[in-house]
Amino acid sequence: MRRALATIATAAALATLTAALGPLAGCAPDEPTVVSREALGTVVSITAYGEDEAGVRAAIDEAFVAMAGVEAALDAYDPASEVSRFNASPYEEQSLPADAVEVLDAIQALDADAEFSPSLLGVVGLYDFEGTPSVPEDADLALAVAAADGFIRIDSDTAVFSRNAGPDPRLEPGGSLAPGLDFGGAAKGLALDRAREALRASGAVTAALITAVSSTVTLGSKPDGSAWRIGVEDPRDSSVVVAVFQVDGDGSVSTSGDYQRYFEQDGVRYHHILDPDTGAPVRGMRSLTVGGADLSGLASDILSTALFVKGTGDAAAYAEEAGIGLYVVDDEGRALTVPAPDDSGLVVTEMASPKP
Ligand code: ADP
Ligand code: MG
Repeated sequence: MRRALATIATAAALATLTAALGPLAGCAPDEPTVVSREALGTVVSITAYGEDEAGVRAAIDEAFVAMAGVEAALDAYDPASEVSRFNASPYEEQSLPADAVEVLDAIQALDADAEFSPSLLGVVGLYDFEGTPSVPEDADLALAVAAADGFIRIDSDTAVFSRNAGPDPRLEPGGSLAPGLDFGGAAKGLALDRAREALRASGAVTAALITAVSSTVTLGSKPDGSAWRIGVEDPRDSSVVVAVFQVDGDGSVSTSGDYQRYFEQDGVRYHHILDPDTGAPVRGMRSLTVGGADLSGLASDILSTALFVKGTGDAAAYAEEAGIGLYVVDDEGRALTVPAPDDSGLVVTEMASPKP
């Protein structure tokens, strides 16, 4: 319930931002078609330009179908998904869904294996963020982390969990500590890439922005030539835009934060980005946003989570090396920006100081 409310608030803030920063209403051919629907566990909005409005609308429908395809493969909370089928028998060697292979290959290519773990389903489940949230017992957390560590990719498209923990009946399939694959930190980005491909392939869409709130991809240049502007909200005040990522042409921006899914117990915030080594929420940052003109949606979604886990210093070093833009709000409300290289097509601008 909290997630649903937070999502709507963020989407509203985003809509305000788009209105505030968008171009003044121009002549009809330059007016975008905007469609928002519930998808990917949030609200997805597509803003698309093209001369033939019926063609643009048909392309947008195709884009939502493409996103639903990724959900049907990778949503670990949908018992009918392909990944849920894998998770139902984690200790049996099985083939991986093709979309999972794509995510696993991207994690490796980005050198993010140490921070981005695809096997944290049992660990995340212990916090029960969506149900009755509570802080797990240390011993249970240790068991779930050990079980998650048992994930072995046998070859490109087969994998299994070794029995790395226990014995404990709760580690058995269906048990509360059973290991499983969770692509929640990456699936949105992959889905946005597929949606962008669908818009491009339609031939009807000349430029578009697709946003799933925490991740956004852009396609092409707007008819008026102005850059796309993607706002970053203050992690402690969703009505304030603290930074803007400006990208011209194709690009991608993704945010991970401690405010998207969390609860508080004894004055401590427990949020959904977890250290794969301990299973504890990662400390040190409130939010991290990463973006680039050459980044796929999948890469930016993986990186926002992975760089959050790395911590501010290592994240900044990674961004500089990779030539991507970074904006961090640390746990005391201090902002840090790593600009993208001058000719990279991405500009990061600080707009306001985050709340202390
Ligand atoms: P959002 O859900 O807003 O897109 P993220 O992309 O940061 O945010 O994804 C967070 C989700 O990723 C968590 O809800 C959890 O399912 C999963 N997750 C948490 N910690 C990790 C981690 N270290 N590596 C990979 N996935 C993680
Ligand atoms: Mg992510």
